[in-house]
Amino acid sequence: MKILVLNAGSSSIKYQLYDMASVCVLANGIVEQIGETDSQAKIKIPQKDGAYFTKERREPIACHADGLAIISELLKESGVIKDLNELDGIGHRVVQGGSNFKESALVDEYVQNEIERLISLAPLHNPAHLEGIKVSIKQSPNVPQVVVFDTSFHSTIPQYAHMYAIPYKFYSELKIKKYGFHGTSHYFVAKEGAKFLGCEIDSFNAITLHLGNGASATAIKNGKSVDTSMGLTPLEGLIMGTRCGDIDPAVLFYIARKLGYDVARLDTLANKESGLKGICGNNDMREINKMVESGDERAKLALDMFNYRLKKYIGSYSAVLGRVDCVIFTGGIGENDANVRANSCKDLENLGIEIDLDKNSQRYSTPFCISTENSKVKVLVVPTNEELEIAIQTQRLIEKLKK
Ligand code: AMP
Repeated sequence: MKILVLNAGSSSIKYQLYDMASVCVLANGIVEQIGETDSQAKIKIPQKDGAYFTKERREPIACHADGLAIISELLKESGVIKDLNELDGIGHRVVQGGSNFKESALVDEYVQNEIERLISLAPLHNPAHLEGIKVSIKQSPNVPQVVVFDTSFHSTIPQYAHMYAIPYKFYSELKIKKYGFHGTSHYFVAKEGAKFLGCEIDSFNAITLHLGNGASATAIKNGKSVDTSMGLTPLEGLIMGTRCGDIDPAVLFYIARKLGYDVARLDTLANKESGLKGICGNNDMREINKMVESGDERAKLALDMFNYRLKKYIGSYSAVLGRVDCVIFTGGIGENDANVRANSCKDLENLGIEIDLDKNSQRYSTPFCISTENSKVKVLVVPTNEELEIAIQTQRLIEKLKK
């Protein structure tokens, strides 16, 4: 079964083509700067000897339809497929699925209308996803299309945990609640972690920490999300590259009153100018580590704040779960930064969490354990693969359709 995974952004489309029988990537790539003059399209095809065949096209790509047409041409020219219509399915990443999508769904008119209706909750993401879906249906009308939502995995969070303590009518009328994001990643690494430890996912309790440029923590009980750090939008929770995470909302009111900032300006401040970048001027953890090494006090402060916030979430989710089988680190920072892992888990022996610093300094491309033999809670590093999870869920729905 061949499945194409598409992640359409406002000016880009990322894609991966999977052969699900061997669970391997046949090709992947990106179309970037759509709508600009310096647009480009890339394809990368793994070869038998472990090397990659790559090809790049630089030409104006006016819209998503042109972008997908170029992806189709690149796949055909490279001999991976003869036609997009020969695919068994196309899986689309959608950030915001609201309350109605508790799992992935086959695309029909209702699904498209819902994604459109939810644009006000995800104005930066859902319009581009919808555009990607529409052009994909046009190009491959006979191929089943599936949407996989970042929010669905968190639909099991109980009401007392997903509600904000503001007047109830904002929940009932405007659907303001914690939706959570990164759900595909949290679910994928939880499954992989359970498999690695020989546990059944249905009885597995874990705290999953997706630490990338965006970052979130999730409490997973019996394989289901029971709380997560991101909220109505991805702004809540952990300190991120450019987002402030948890903050007293009055800080924003105060800035508005003092400096005359309007809502749009506050939005930019909290989402794009805050977090690690706001404290030390850089949002790339590799650069921040270099700055810390060279004695930059602000970088050290930003890192200490990041680790402290993370530790608080590990502690609070330990309380939420009661029994924790495993803490899982993933994402660009979680998978690669041993210092963040060691420092955020430091002095947590009373919670049963004890890191082995030697094991923690290793790096593998598959799941590995970094906790001591005595650690009651296993601590794992699990590389995430959201695209593969989208392909798996797409395959599951298509097989259901065939029955
Ligand atoms: P992601 O959004 O998952 O791609 O992760 C991006 C973040 O991961 C950035 O802050 C990168 O600096 C960080 N990152 C990637 N590689 C490393 C590394 N080797 N060590 C520390 N941070 C890393």
